[in-house]
Amino acid sequence: MYCPFCGAQETKVTDSRLVADGDQVRRRRECLGCGERFTTYETAELVMPKIVKHDGKREVFDESKLRAGMQRALEKRPVSTESFEAALERIRQRLRARGDREVPSRLIGEEVMAQLRLLDQVAYIRFASVYRSFQDLDEFRAEIDRLAQDPPFLKGEHLPKDS
Ligand SMILES: [Zn+2]
Repeated sequence: MYCPFCGAQETKVTDSRLVADGDQVRRRRECLGCGERFTTYETAELVMPKIVKHDGKREVFDESKLRAGMQRALEKRPVSTESFEAALERIRQRLRARGDREVPSRLIGEEVMAQLRLLDQVAYIRFASVYRSFQDLDEFRAEIDRLAQDPPFLKGEHLPKDS
């Protein structure tokens, strides 16, 4: 890529390593023109399936959207950045593991809910109330009752460790 400082085309890779459990390559680059150094991250975006929206339109998978939606639900909740990133990574992995070229957007919502449910019940309820757009208080209450009767933490599911 061009140097972000001076626009020169020639940059040299000075270091290259795998990060994020091997899902990312981090490269240190040095511009041969101005000598500035910068870092690039390379991920295999192609393997993420396309998202099929309710109206049938296709969209590329947009991680920043996913991230923003989850962060909104987790606002001011006692969940560490590490646990949040791990949950995000599990969602990416699960989507990739399907091996489908396209997945319905509904599925992403379900994956997010499944992960939030493990992370933090308040965040889960927040997300679910927007996502499922509960029609009334009864529906909302029913979901909370379901949570109370069937706490995710007792089902032996893998619990993200919180620091
Ligand atoms: Zn430069």
